[in-house]
Amino acid sequence: MQIPNYEKARRRSHEEVLVRDFEMNANYSKLGLNKKYYLKTYGCQMNEHDSENIKGMLDKMSFKETLDMKDADVILLNTCSIRENAHNKAFGMLGRIKHLKNEKKDLIVGLCGCMAQEVGVVEEILKKYKFVNFVFGTHNLDDLPKLLANSFKDSKLNVEVYSMEGDIVENMPVTRVSKYKAYVNIIYGCDKFCTYCIVPYTRGKQRSRHKEDIIKEVKELVRDGYQEVTLLGQNVNAYGKDLYDDYELADLLVDVAKTNIPRIRFLTSHPWDFSEKLIEVIKNYDNILNFVHLPVQSGSNRILKLMGRRYTRESYKELYDKLRSIPNISITTDIIVGFPGETEEDFNDTLDLVNYCKYDSAFTFIYSPRENTPASRLEDKVPLEEKEQRLYKLNELINKYSKESNLKMVGNTYLVLCEGYSTKEGMLFGYTETNKLVNFKGSIDAIGKIVKVKILDAKSFSLDGEIVE
Ligand code: SF4
Repeated sequence: MQIPNYEKARRRSHEEVLVRDFEMNANYSKLGLNKKYYLKTYGCQMNEHDSENIKGMLDKMSFKETLDMKDADVILLNTCSIRENAHNKAFGMLGRIKHLKNEKKDLIVGLCGCMAQEVGVVEEILKKYKFVNFVFGTHNLDDLPKLLANSFKDSKLNVEVYSMEGDIVENMPVTRVSKYKAYVNIIYGCDKFCTYCIVPYTRGKQRSRHKEDIIKEVKELVRDGYQEVTLLGQNVNAYGKDLYDDYELADLLVDVAKTNIPRIRFLTSHPWDFSEKLIEVIKNYDNILNFVHLPVQSGSNRILKLMGRRYTRESYKELYDKLRSIPNISITTDIIVGFPGETEEDFNDTLDLVNYCKYDSAFTFIYSPRENTPASRLEDKVPLEEKEQRLYKLNELINKYSKESNLKMVGNTYLVLCEGYSTKEGMLFGYTETNKLVNFKGSIDAIGKIVKVKILDAKSFSLDGEIVE
């Protein structure tokens, strides 16, 4: 049994990051024959991509996926701890699984992801959810085959969660959700320690993958016909700082652009590390898309300081203006309302910044205290009702600017990567280079291709259009 420890999770040393290859005991390759798994994923793109690796490992063990939980022999929850909501959903799910397990005694249940790295979560599982078979963390995803094999032999709860700076595991099996667009991790962990954020504790130290491994992965995706890659990390702009003297995200993007993959995105950016060189590279390469997600979190300097964000509203605006100089760029953001001690004046500063930036869209949240983070120890006197009102007001403003930005596109034609059938009947869907969702009429031959779509109508969150020749 190995349970998480925040002191170890906080540690940042200069020790070299160990890069190792994925290995699986050959005896496990038939373990899943005639067995089905159900995998539920919560949270961000990093988690979604981890789930693609989990599926890859399960496929290698001959399991088949089922979308019906009741039909499964193995249930896995890949959890998120960024906000209380995701937390509660995962525990709610465990409640439902408990009933299933009462009916099906040999059902295997595993929990992984960021929640598994939380001390409080593991304590609660040990106390109240003993029916769970195993818990493993973000640092030992590749232990899944071994843990699963052990669970078939011994039903006792096994917790294997390491709090550490972290290694890098290359050549993980992967079963990608899409045949056209792919996530590629370029950096793991985070060293920023924003005061509200649990990620530096759950995902370990900032550690970049070697550029050769990334380029090799992208070249394989090009060979397999992929149209788009998203280079992923908690803070991609820090790429290379822990590994190279003179090679940063801008250089990596140039090398990825040279593979001739038609579309390249990168997520998520921290304004602190956003270099001038990067802006130039976005301008100069057509296949590096004109889309930047630039979380601001607050428009108040006082709150930004309490959040430990390392920039001011003035320096953010300066960077924002430089980015807006890139023709046709789309910029989105994340904003937290109701951070402990946020006054009406602080909130008005946020509204003022939104009025300045006129974002293409934004993810907005009410502050949610996370276990063991410095912000969770701050006094928070703002009532929930007040926070909800602020969120409502902010969303109204964000939606207004999203709609305005979308309306400007009506009548024009854009390149869209068609991903499949839309939820709107008789329509296809895809995203523009600037990451706008478009539902459009067209032939199914378009699926998997980059097509020209004329925009006919705009809403706050999507566009409607039709394919043109
Ligand atoms: S940069 Fe992002 S992931 Fe890192 S601590 Fe700050 S909010 Fe969390």
